[in-house]
Amino acid sequence: MKTRVTTLFGIEKPIVQAGMIWCSGWELASAVSNAGGLGMIGSGSMYPDVLQDQLQKCNAATDKPFAVNLPLLYPQVEEHIQHIIDAGVPIVFTSAGNPATHCQRFKAAGIKVVHVVSSTKFALKAQAAGCDAVVAEGFEAGGHNGREETTTLCLVPRVAEVLDIPVIAAGGIYNGATMLAALAMGAEAVQVGSRFVASVESSAHQAFKQKVISTQEGDTLLTLKEITPVRLIKNEFYQRVAQAYERGASKEELAQLLGRGRAKKGMFEGDLVEGELEIGQASAHLEEILPAAEIIDRMMRDCVAGSQRLFSMAHTTK
Ligand code: NDP
Repeated sequence: MKTRVTTLFGIEKPIVQAGMIWCSGWELASAVSNAGGLGMIGSGSMYPDVLQDQLQKCNAATDKPFAVNLPLLYPQVEEHIQHIIDAGVPIVFTSAGNPATHCQRFKAAGIKVVHVVSSTKFALKAQAAGCDAVVAEGFEAGGHNGREETTTLCLVPRVAEVLDIPVIAAGGIYNGATMLAALAMGAEAVQVGSRFVASVESSAHQAFKQKVISTQEGDTLLTLKEITPVRLIKNEFYQRVAQAYERGASKEELAQLLGRGRAKKGMFEGDLVEGELEIGQASAHLEEILPAAEIIDRMMRDCVAGSQRLFSMAHTTK
């Protein structure tokens, strides 16, 4: 399949694996890239020396392009940028910050820049900053998310309509049918998170992967908007957050309740009670932990089959 995004990245299939903290190390990123998609290292949960090590391992495990997700609010962002440039990473996805801050620096180093947005307004800003593409991420997505709760179905067509640069759709995309829907809305690739959390190569704790595939519809909610909006599984920690809201807790109290390192505790160390369990609504539809290559093969096969079905529906009159 060829789109402006596959051409931009030099990949075969328009499937991007999201750079999720604690889940997206070199094993997942290289497996996705080797299968023809774009793998991505999630640098937000890595100290600079950890990222450097992960980049070396990823470079050794694949000769295909891969990317790094760089949250711009990360405390040691300068060191991360230097490691990314030194390792010859060809593509960077920036998030959680102003895309203009580092865009031209990456471009001067020959690196393609994609920014993650949750609104049309920020998509236009990313384009004006010189980004090569945007990820338009809807409300269904896991982890950190937009405050305005714009769904993928409402966000992607609008962003694709007003932007000249290509759009990668994210939020609720986990199989061939949802991929086809995103492409039909004007996206030229999809970014997939939750489906890859529950993959063999994901660095998430096994207990978290099992929790993800047992999650049912309605089991996640977007919360903590006053701090950083985040979609979580409604575990015991989440219930305490909900109780705090009920008694009218202040932003400071919420921040104190959250504390530090809860995402690591939940997703990496497998503490399903006290950890932050960040996952998208799509988790409700996942039933098995699969190898990354199989996830990609199934998505591609079912996307193409779905498009053929629609084509024949459109051309059948009797
Ligand atoms: P916390 O502040 O709760 O925890 C920080 C965690 O990141 C710790 O577990 C720590 O590991 C680890 N870490 C890695 N590198 C560093 C560093 N240089 N300084 C401090 N801690 C570091 O943050 P969260 O778990 O909520 O978020 C983790 C990261 O996710 C953030 O650092 C941020 O970069 C990123 N983020 C991304 C967003 C996005 O992309 N949209 C939005 C919000 C956050 P250890 O326990 O081993 O010390």
